[in-house]
Amino acid sequence: MPSAFQRLLYIGSTGYSGSTLLESILGTNDQCVNIGEICKLASWTLCTCDQHTYECPFWIDVLERLKKRSGNPQTQLKEWHIQRGRAAKAVLPFNLHDLFITAGGPGTLPLARLLSKEIADFNAGCKRALELFEVIAEGSKASVIVDSSKDPVLLKHFYAEDPSRFKVIHLVRDPIATCYSFFKNFARDGVTYPSEKTGRAPTIEETARFWVNRNRKIELSYYTVPKHQRLLLKYEDLCLKPEETARKLSDFVGLEISIPEEIALKQQHAISGNPMRLSQNVIRVKLNEDWESKLSPKDRATIHQITATLARKYGYP
Ligand SMILES: [Zn+2]
Repeated sequence: MPSAFQRLLYIGSTGYSGSTLLESILGTNDQCVNIGEICKLASWTLCTCDQHTYECPFWIDVLERLKKRSGNPQTQLKEWHIQRGRAAKAVLPFNLHDLFITAGGPGTLPLARLLSKEIADFNAGCKRALELFEVIAEGSKASVIVDSSKDPVLLKHFYAEDPSRFKVIHLVRDPIATCYSFFKNFARDGVTYPSEKTGRAPTIEETARFWVNRNRKIELSYYTVPKHQRLLLKYEDLCLKPEETARKLSDFVGLEISIPEEIALKQQHAISGNPMRLSQNVIRVKLNEDWESKLSPKDRATIHQITATLARKYGYP
């Protein structure tokens, strides 16, 4: 039987770069189904449609199909996730997994799996996710799965495991706007929220360094992916040049993609992503520039100093 699942469109980006907007746009085409961040399936149960995955018809159907496929009536959705997080670094600062993420690909995956348990575990998680994509494609009648996990490690693993069905969109956003959104998320409603990693809110300098590091890691991870299977896209172009960007996306995806002025979120069934997904019924394709009057000149100078070299490469002044 031919596979229903024909293509994985993976979005690689930092947080707050518009990945929720991009995947929602792609999901408006009947041939595409956007499922949010598959890497969070084990921990996140609330779907965009406002129901939990155990009460949402879309995910109930996915689970029924997984039970049939696996022959295990006890299986649960969270067992079909990709492993998240990496083992603590060993003695060397640059381990085998880092080497694989940077230089590896389909040809080196079998050996890398033998040499590193961490690589083997991630690879097993990607295989589970690909089976999940297969049943999602069967049930939704869509042939293209859009995963906005964003992470460069998963990017490389998906490519290495299933190179012919893989395509990646590297989504970038102006570093000052991204850093402000990031920063704002940790201090909202008069409360400062700590980061999971550090136990405190990040500084402006840290958010700027994160922007650089994440984008560099994505570049390192995808330079082994053939050029016709990757696309660099600016968030601002989605909003300011919708027709031109829709043509670019259509050519890349191989389907007619249009960019509407607003998208009905509750008709989609994605997990995780931007919190606005849960608080709003529609997402407007509109540039969010509320940072301009709120960041001090000193903060803007700090971000510019750290990000300027890479930002210029993406066309940001
Ligand atoms: Zn749902």
